[in-house]
Amino acid sequence: MRVTTAFNRLLELDGVNVTAVEIGADTVTVDVGLRRRKLVCPQCDYATRARYDTRPVASSWRHLRLGSFKLVVRAELRRLTCPVHGVRVEGVAFARPGARFTRDFEQLVAWLAVKMDKDALRRLVGIDWDTVGRICDRVVADDLDPHRLDELYDIGVDEISWKKHHNYLTLVVNHTTNKVVWGAEGRDAKTLDGFFDELGEGRSGQIRAVSMDMGPAFRKSVTAEGHAPQATICIDPFHAVKNVTDALNVVRRDIWQQLRRLPEPNIAKKFKGARWALLKNPEDLTGQQAATLTQIKRHGGALWRAYRLKEAFRTIFAGDLTDEEAGELLDRWCSWAQRCRLAPFVKAARTVRKHREGILAAIRLGLTNARLEGLNQRVRLIMRRAFGFHSAQAALALVMLSAGPINLRLPWESEA
Ligand SMILES: [Zn+2]
Repeated sequence: MRVTTAFNRLLELDGVNVTAVEIGADTVTVDVGLRRRKLVCPQCDYATRARYDTRPVASSWRHLRLGSFKLVVRAELRRLTCPVHGVRVEGVAFARPGARFTRDFEQLVAWLAVKMDKDALRRLVGIDWDTVGRICDRVVADDLDPHRLDELYDIGVDEISWKKHHNYLTLVVNHTTNKVVWGAEGRDAKTLDGFFDELGEGRSGQIRAVSMDMGPAFRKSVTAEGHAPQATICIDPFHAVKNVTDALNVVRRDIWQQLRRLPEPNIAKKFKGARWALLKNPEDLTGQQAATLTQIKRHGGALWRAYRLKEAFRTIFAGDLTDEEAGELLDRWCSWAQRCRLAPFVKAARTVRKHREGILAAIRLGLTNARLEGLNQRVRLIMRRAFGFHSAQAALALVMLSAGPINLRLPWESEA
């Protein structure tokens, strides 16, 4: 078998014939010719036999490695005039428009980006991290389920921080499929307006419930005319509980500040370790933390009171209460917190009262923490990797690859 024929079989590139193979020190370069006579616009399906000019455009793409050799595919492309997109270099089936890599290579990188940490991936494929980001973005644009916004009834909106400071993404989750279906940079009402613009009035009108945090931004966008004013607003249990945990944390810090002013420094130091004992769920405590908690209990006082309030609030979301019981417990909790003489809890109770309907709606619709947490954790984990990107678009693409409606396969895995 001739080498060019062998490489034709080996590479399985769509629509081309291998015309020459050159083996260098660390790179195999494969020249290919397009089988197709017609020139096709890379942006649309427009095809023509007319060339814009006769000057060939030398192009090359990185392909999957061949053993320890880099593999580069090379071709001379032609230019055409698309009535919509103007003068363009013709598109090829085996690579995305504008990409310096073949589709197979990009597919592999996208798959690895979800599974593998940044340094390992960079070393394995030999490209920089922002290039990985652009590849993720292209794969998502191509492969994300185009019907992801069609059947939305119960959705959740949440913000997630991207990079350390003041960079946020807003994500929309389909609660039925537990997939992230939309995202954008920012976290205000305008950001979410973009989602409803894309959805249009028809699809917005069929949304039944939207879960969110207790801030005003998302509520404002959801209830706006033409968006989803008919939807029931639910407060994510996660956010409701956080409001109360934050109150406990303020109480703890105040007490610590007082202790620090005491002449005996060890008392404050010892107390510092109490943070996790108090904030963690009791079932997750280590032996040492459990012992610290027992001490706090024995000591009693404001901190123990605050802890009991936090735990009592958490049980409302345990998932074994009827609507009525949950409502009753929530009201009882609020009056307990308002009488507890701890300012942060008085404030937290006011917030809970204000969002009473939304909190109960979440319980009624079965939006439990357990249900939300799996996806949340996955997104948070992938965000840590996305910190390295310089563009929000790339960060978002990585979230979509990992938690969106997309079926990522390796290039050599056939479609199921
Ligand atoms: Zn075109």
